[in-house]
Amino acid sequence: MDTLSHCPLCQGGRFRPFRTCRDHTVSGESFDIVECKACGFRFTNPRPSADALEQYYESEDYTPHQATSQGLTDTLYRAVRFYTLRSKHRLIASLVSDPSSRLLDFGCGTGEFLNLCQSRGWAARGLEPDPTAQKVATQKYGLMVDTPDQIQTLPDDHFDVITLWHVLEHVPELLETVEQLKRTLAPEGTLVVAVPNCTAFDAQFYGEYWAAYDVPRHLYHFRPGDVRRLFDQKSMTVTDIRPMRLDAFYVSLLSEQYRNGWLLRAPLVALYSILWAARHEHRHSAQLYLIRHEDVA
Ligand SMILES: [Zn+2]
Repeated sequence: MDTLSHCPLCQGGRFRPFRTCRDHTVSGESFDIVECKACGFRFTNPRPSADALEQYYESEDYTPHQATSQGLTDTLYRAVRFYTLRSKHRLIASLVSDPSSRLLDFGCGTGEFLNLCQSRGWAARGLEPDPTAQKVATQKYGLMVDTPDQIQTLPDDHFDVITLWHVLEHVPELLETVEQLKRTLAPEGTLVVAVPNCTAFDAQFYGEYWAAYDVPRHLYHFRPGDVRRLFDQKSMTVTDIRPMRLDAFYVSLLSEQYRNGWLLRAPLVALYSILWAARHEHRHSAQLYLIRHEDVA
């Protein structure tokens, strides 16, 4: 285990306990989440060392929270993914004028999103740490996929769009990764970052059972202000925050499972969370942040 002595966001050295959560999908172990006393950032601490972390990911295609005994959740996950792949493509297509723009998907998994984009004319590349997922992406879809450390070898000012779909919360070297993303993003390019939001209603309702804490795989538990400050530090600006409404349903269903609750309540909690967020700005269960270089934002 690695114990962080400094806040990954502000480098402050004093923390208070925030929550203890269980790993419900792989190990059954408990992990502490702490809150930085200086900036309020919440992160899993201690956390498995970089080498040990991979044993907390299920093998093969890491579809988060995949569990064969929980067929309903799995089916729902796949249905949602089919729908969201297309809406993700629509979103990035709206960010560029040239249909053959350059796309980097950081944490591309088995490459379904990249494959769709490539088929629509994008020059698409991916980075993925899981060798099995990487193999699917390269062999099944013929995609160009490297390991995340290879980001250092990607050219400066290159990609028109870089996407991180529920990935930033998994990245051990947070500031270094943001630095590299910034370096390889084109001057007019857009970074698209989707992360869970621990200030959402469903997060408060489910508490330690909230599925998007997903310890120890989720190392950081972002609030919208944390995302802004993270990119501000690297002279980048959040230009838009958009809701990912379907996540509330999926996360609520898993959360009910984790606490052996009443599954039929999940859609009601999710619906309430969405309605609540209509009155509380940027408080959706998961959100998508559009980020640009500071001088063009
Ligand atoms: Zn801090």
